[in-house]
Amino acid sequence: MISFDEFSQNLNRLKERIGLACASCGRNPDEVRILPVTKNHPVDAALHAQKAGLLSVGENRVQEAEGKIPLSSGISWELIGHLQSNKAKKAVMLFDRVQSLDSIHLAVKLNSEAEKAGKVLRVLMQVNSGRDPAKFGAEIEEAPKLLEEILKLSNLKVEGLMAIAPLDEDLASASRAFSNLRNLRDKLSSDFDVALPELSMGMSGDLECAIKEGSTLIRVGTFLFGERIYV
Ligand SMILES: *Cc1c(COP(=O)(O)O)cnc(C)c1O
Repeated sequence: MISFDEFSQNLNRLKERIGLACASCGRNPDEVRILPVTKNHPVDAALHAQKAGLLSVGENRVQEAEGKIPLSSGISWELIGHLQSNKAKKAVMLFDRVQSLDSIHLAVKLNSEAEKAGKVLRVLMQVNSGRDPAKFGAEIEEAPKLLEEILKLSNLKVEGLMAIAPLDEDLASASRAFSNLRNLRDKLSSDFDVALPELSMGMSGDLECAIKEGSTLIRVGTFLFGERIYV
């Protein structure tokens, strides 16, 4: 695991990248938040982030987060990986926000678990806006129906959309995925008359594209913490 000093240097370099990307498209860097992705790293990754003032971190798997969360306090944990509905109960207990809500079935399950827990769960709708056959996420065409159902569920609070660009493709296809997501957000927001401010898009390799397309939250693992250590 890298030291806190190394992490701080990486964070400074990341902020430079964000600053340059924002300058190139006239955005204010304060509009782009960083979600450090701590998956496949020990809990120290989350503690480094916290020490640097980044109080939310992203994890991919319920089980991995479950091991780390008791070893920290004051950190807000977000689920960014695919969630099976049989883990919905645990996810509701552990996470402050679930970014990977991609089906009506899962929405109903999360809502009922949140209701039992006396909690309103913050969520993002994950959309396969790059049409990657290997990716999770609702299809673009399914998104209106999914949002319509989520809005009926009183223990879920939908805050925006999330997407992962197609892997192993060029930055042009990442840009398309991100602009599709932004266009979809704009349309859903106006059709349903609901604010969907969060656009969670962009990772270590494509964050500049995502920022240019309007990202409000970049999810960054490798650039901050180095290669993932364990699986
Ligand atoms: C792992 C992961 C990231 C971070 O990816 P890096 O390329 O390491 O920055 C972001 N989002 C999701 C959904 C991930 O699974």
